[in-house]
Amino acid sequence: MSKRNNHQTKKVADTNMLYEEMLNVMLEYKANWNDKTVVKIDRFFPSSKICNVCNYINQDLTLKDREWTCPSCNTTHDRDFNASINIKKQGLNILSGSGTESYVKQKRSKALPLGESMTSEAQPISFAVGG
Ligand SMILES: [Zn+2]
Repeated sequence: MSKRNNHQTKKVADTNMLYEEMLNVMLEYKANWNDKTVVKIDRFFPSSKICNVCNYINQDLTLKDREWTCPSCNTTHDRDFNASINIKKQGLNILSGSGTESYVKQKRSKALPLGESMTSEAQPISFAVGG
């Protein structure tokens, strides 16, 4: 990669970080305004790969797979809807103290089921939980 490309890549990364910070500030502000709580979960939490019914983790899921059937409980999932349920569950687990905020990147291949603990090394992402 050329020096120029490195410079442009860094600029894009910096801009993305700025947008992420702005989104966090806006989320916190709106949540406070509406008496809601913002819970941060790890960006590597495998929300798309976990079956929200039985917690099976589908390691073979690719970005192209918009729908998948759990080999354990035979439930068919819409990728994004399933992920949204898992993110909400993880947020509620964190709020109740039974979940942790992070999944560690290096351990993605051995991702834990919902609610099991890991250390907090990765960057969190945010979402709001109604309350
Ligand atoms: Zn399942």
